[in-house]
Amino acid sequence: MDMQGKENTSAHFVLIPLMAQGHMIPMVDTGLLLAARGVVTSVITTPLNAARFKITVEEAQASGLPLRLVQLPFPCREAGLPDGCENLDTLPSKELIINFFRAISLIQSEVEEYLSNLEFPATCIVSDMGLPWTSNTAKKLGIPRLIFHVSCCFSLLCNVLVRRSEVYDSVNSDDEPFAVPGIPHRIEVTRAQLPSNFAMKSSMKGLRDEILESEAAAQGIIVNSFDVLERGYAELYQKTMGKKVWTVGPAFYGGPRIPRNVSRGRKASVDEEKCSSWLDGKEPCSVIYVSFGSLARFSFEQLVEIGLGLESANHPFIWVVSERYKATQTEEWLGGGFEERTKDRSLIIRGWAPQVFILSHPSTGGFLTHCGWNSSLEGISAGIPMVTWPLFADHFFNEKLVLEVAQVGVGVGVKSASVWQDETPGVSVTKEEVRRAVENLMDRGEEGAARRRRVRELGEKAKIALEAGGSSYANLNNLIEEMANRSG
Ligand code: UDP
Repeated sequence: MDMQGKENTSAHFVLIPLMAQGHMIPMVDTGLLLAARGVVTSVITTPLNAARFKITVEEAQASGLPLRLVQLPFPCREAGLPDGCENLDTLPSKELIINFFRAISLIQSEVEEYLSNLEFPATCIVSDMGLPWTSNTAKKLGIPRLIFHVSCCFSLLCNVLVRRSEVYDSVNSDDEPFAVPGIPHRIEVTRAQLPSNFAMKSSMKGLRDEILESEAAAQGIIVNSFDVLERGYAELYQKTMGKKVWTVGPAFYGGPRIPRNVSRGRKASVDEEKCSSWLDGKEPCSVIYVSFGSLARFSFEQLVEIGLGLESANHPFIWVVSERYKATQTEEWLGGGFEERTKDRSLIIRGWAPQVFILSHPSTGGFLTHCGWNSSLEGISAGIPMVTWPLFADHFFNEKLVLEVAQVGVGVGVKSASVWQDETPGVSVTKEEVRRAVENLMDRGEEGAARRRRVRELGEKAKIALEAGGSSYANLNNLIEEMANRSG
């Protein structure tokens, strides 16, 4: 295997991400890692999504990496979606989620045609778990297929163990805690915190079952995480799944040959210079960065409560206010005194933030996050402690990893999962709870110092994992070799 990044004609990996930011970003990052090892890597996507990653891929190509984007049309109209609705973050309402997955399954025949006509046949398919039809495609064309998970082994394992044991049936109410069975830590959750796929409406249940079947049929699983952070859960997850699990992250760290863009996934809505000089003007570790990822929405009342909590916490902050909120009402409120009152210590980013850049700046000292796995991993890898505010999906399990296993955060105190994209008026976390959690996190006392020490150590270990000889580096080599040998 050529580790210098020259084209390795023995392997061609075809990556098929789900069209959502939290899925595409880590898949493209992993594509960059593969290409930097000389593996020919093709990422299949659609025009809108390709446009978002164009600069990243062009820069990679300019530095000689064999990475390319393959664009297939996305059948919006056929699936009953508005034109241009090619990513989950452009979905106008959650009711259209079924149409979105229908559109994704409609590209199967185009993907198969592409795979059948390749001059350099695919060595393996790396498919997001949300595209179960890739299992039939792989079988039909005789290509090995791996699943790419956008969560950590700890959360994936908790999910499997809770589902298989049906332990949630042993409690009397949605708020009664039960312990995740079969793991070394005592981790308690409630039914109200479980990912929605435990109680799915029948329309989505079919998809959930297909996803589980297609996962069972896969030859292995790739996870964007690193072994030290997983504390033995990578091995346990591998044993439980009965198939190989490769932890290859944090993929966004890249490597010496991979060009770094400030904007990942989308063009940042803030000028890099402005963001950088704003941060330069703050004390080391003094700024709290607040973001809820690419999909979350809150009620207007909740948004206000977050703002007031940040204001009263009295620390400098960067707050990403997504354009998904009701723009006029939000703007009126921000402009109606809030921005003026906090102007000496706030930077409000409307839209998309250069998150990894902000987290890696020495002035950043805390991260209020919704516990999406990418954000959690990015925070930990940057050595930044976190205030955890889980919303849905795997967020609650990720929060357990952050708070109880790694012990690098402070919980804001959310008790139950919210419904994705639910903007029903009301407040689930008060400004007082936001203030308390932020102050607790930024605390200069012994507890805060110990937390910072632990997360900094993890951040250093994250880098080491990706360097030559590190666990993720070795796992990626091992994965490439195993796939190349299979096809040979
Ligand atoms: N992200 C970003 N800027 C933003 C919001 C998100 O760069 O303003 C990136 C973030 O760094 C992460 C991804 O988008 O890589 C979000 O993934 P995550 O799993 O944290 O949350 P999701 O969006 O899937 O809920």
